[in-house]
Amino acid sequence: MEKPLRIAITGAAGNIGYALAFRLAAGNLLGPDRPVILQMLEIAPALGALEGVCMELRDCAFPTLDGLVATADANEAFDQADICFLVGARPRGPGMERKDLLSANGQIFGPQGQAIAARAKKDVRVLVVGNPANTNALIAASAAKGLDRRQFHAMTRLDHNRAISQLAEKTGSHPREIRKVTIWGNHSSTQVPDLSQATVGGKPAMSLVDAEWYKGTFIPTVQQRGAAIIKARGQSSAASAASSAMDHMRNWIQGTPEGDWVSMAVPADGSYGVSEGVVFSYPCTCKGGDYQVVKDLPLDDFLKEKLAATEKELREERAAVESLLG
Ligand code: NDP
Repeated sequence: MEKPLRIAITGAAGNIGYALAFRLAAGNLLGPDRPVILQMLEIAPALGALEGVCMELRDCAFPTLDGLVATADANEAFDQADICFLVGARPRGPGMERKDLLSANGQIFGPQGQAIAARAKKDVRVLVVGNPANTNALIAASAAKGLDRRQFHAMTRLDHNRAISQLAEKTGSHPREIRKVTIWGNHSSTQVPDLSQATVGGKPAMSLVDAEWYKGTFIPTVQQRGAAIIKARGQSSAASAASSAMDHMRNWIQGTPEGDWVSMAVPADGSYGVSEGVVFSYPCTCKGGDYQVVKDLPLDDFLKEKLAATEKELREERAAVESLLG
């Protein structure tokens, strides 16, 4: 057995945290030879529920689970962490404006960024799932003095996986035959699911589907899939979000397959005309434990317009939390 990996999960007693903790404890991130220690953070009122999660985790007797920490103290949760999944976030309350939501979450993600910088390993990888995820990642990265902003990502992998699933269904293929799907921009309804480079069994996806389906059905279905799941299940997506968070982290650590890429919301670096200062979802490849934005893909006018709209939304989110950015 290798040295245990310390994995912090915030909001660990919530819906997504509950799904994530068991998959991680079962060794589904890096395999059966890499034990894990789960360091779970909750707000004080949820510590009772978190204790229940710990009891169930122990009851599974997972061979890969080497330890559990359940705490309301961020410094304890992030102590020596190799990986952090920031899942817990303030949900939108009745009458709450988007600006209020952004600022309430800023109060959570700023201190968490500071605690990560103070206590986690210097090469920690952080994935923000809690919404508004891109801007929460921006706030956490900006508060984490001494760490590189590139260590803070937000999740658009569930949107990416949903896009693959929709395309597979439409073309009667299997998700494993699909390559080079992209989600651009914000993890919100302005996200841009893009099939212009995608292939199915080696054939261009756009030669297999018509433009009307792409613009009129595919894009809105991917953008609104979360709402469709709430309607069907009576609860928001949780297992698929947890699974996608693990996909993101696994690819970041172990790399992406040759000839494919994944969607990751990472600090904008000027690629595709998106200047620094926001966390933007791009097509990315990973190698040697690091990621690179795939550069210089052609964008048609339709995509350029959509990218501009999602970037505008991210700039507005940034403006609403500017005072929290160090
Ligand atoms: P969930 O576990 O269902 O969701 C957690 C966060 O993930 C929400 O912000 C949610 O956004 C977001 N999210 C991102 N992508 C998805 C997706 N595809 N589907 C669903 N959600 C998505 O929320 P719960 O309310 O069940 O649990 C949250 C937990 O976090 C609670 O136990 C709470 O106590 C805790 N918490 C912990 C904090 C901390 O550790 N300091 C701080 C704040 C809360 P959206 O709201 O838009 O659905």
